[in-house]
Amino acid sequence: GVVTRFAPSPTGFLHIGGARTAIFNWLFARHHGGTFTLRIEDTDRARSTDEAIAAILDGMRWLGLDWDGDEIYQFARANRHAEVANELLAKGHAYRCYLTQQELAAMREQAQAERRPFRVNSPWRDRDTADAPEGEPFVVRLKAPRDGETTIADAVQGDVTVKNEEIDDFVMLRGDGTPTYMLSVVVDDHDMGITHVIRGDDHLNNAFRQLALIEAMEWPTPVYAHVPLIHGSDGAKLSKRHGALGVEAYRDEMGMLPEALFNYLLRLGWGHGDDEIISREQAIEWFTLDGVGKSPARFDVKKLENLNGHYIRESGDAALADIAAPLIAAHLGHELHEDGMDMLQRSMAAIKPRAKTIHEIVEQAMFLFRTRPLNLDEKAKSLLDSDARALLATLLPELEGLEEWTEDALDTAVREFAEAQALKLGKVAQPLRAALTGSAQSPGIFDVLVLLGREESLARIADQTR
Ligand code: GLU
Repeated sequence: GVVTRFAPSPTGFLHIGGARTAIFNWLFARHHGGTFTLRIEDTDRARSTDEAIAAILDGMRWLGLDWDGDEIYQFARANRHAEVANELLAKGHAYRCYLTQQELAAMREQAQAERRPFRVNSPWRDRDTADAPEGEPFVVRLKAPRDGETTIADAVQGDVTVKNEEIDDFVMLRGDGTPTYMLSVVVDDHDMGITHVIRGDDHLNNAFRQLALIEAMEWPTPVYAHVPLIHGSDGAKLSKRHGALGVEAYRDEMGMLPEALFNYLLRLGWGHGDDEIISREQAIEWFTLDGVGKSPARFDVKKLENLNGHYIRESGDAALADIAAPLIAAHLGHELHEDGMDMLQRSMAAIKPRAKTIHEIVEQAMFLFRTRPLNLDEKAKSLLDSDARALLATLLPELEGLEEWTEDALDTAVREFAEAQALKLGKVAQPLRAALTGSAQSPGIFDVLVLLGREESLARIADQTR
């Protein structure tokens, strides 16, 4: 069966490029009823942090990318990696290289002077080990093929061929005996039974070196799929400036839903006809490597926001209220009570049609939780001039006299009042909104009145007529 892996280095947060790689691997495995594994590549001890590991696991869970079995920690397998290097040494596919730093530096300088790319050409490749200097430090290098060429039939890039002379005898074990990243990746992919390696195309060059090692071990070759990196809206490689933030920033700072980010990242570099809105279930059904594009996709925040608006409209009111509640509580400085939660949930029908982010929901819902007398923002203040206050004072008894406090009854009453005053509805609705919410923007005015209820609405209006 199919076995894929997501293999992040925990040196930073789960950024969106990584998240997309994870999504592709997850979908490919799920599509084939296979296995999706997670491997934390924590061999760079200086740069790997527990914080980054936690952020990666958290981001994966938030996106709904469940992995099969426990996650593998690469560093814990260092002995096994070294064992493979030693096996290659024993079989004559690797050699101890005693080149010193000075000798390497001299080779590099010479290549530079001759304007050719530097590639290690170690005299120790074919030298008798009997010549080895006693007690001197050495690294273990792979004896990569020198003649001919290697072709990778990449599932995304098509056939990619390099001359074998371009593949260097890379280091597998450092001077202190620790394995290099290049060795660890190959051993782990083999031991974990990875059948498909789906990752960013910044790893395509590495694939040729990794393949040389796989062939030396006579291991089965995985299918490679190197996905073009995400670019910014200006076409340059994605950076922080373009929104290459951690997944948690999309959740916490930008107010995105996981469904929206999932859908957006899926469409970024993969397509199924013209479909823009694709559910998780459809994605599992449709995902193949054929649909992955060959050219870099451009990140577009506006598209992501539009998708987010879609998923907000599709979400249940209770689920949205649950997401918004802690953010509202943070603004208020206290938790929401049951009544508050109930009111928040009821407000969703009025709020969600126009909201593109969770923060917009919070903004639109805050009026529900303000305490009297309301603080008015600048716009609300200017709407509530003395004329407007006098108008509200005239409207107040009309509303007080209403038998029913329903949207229909309120709508009729306010419209009739506006007509009687020879005013357009907006001339009444705007100061009313300012009095009820403290701002000039809110859900529809009749929704606001109903959500606040009779008592609170009348009291807020009365506050502005005194
Ligand atoms: N750990 C590597 C990275 O985060 C990925 C290695 C791989 O996918 O082969 O870039």
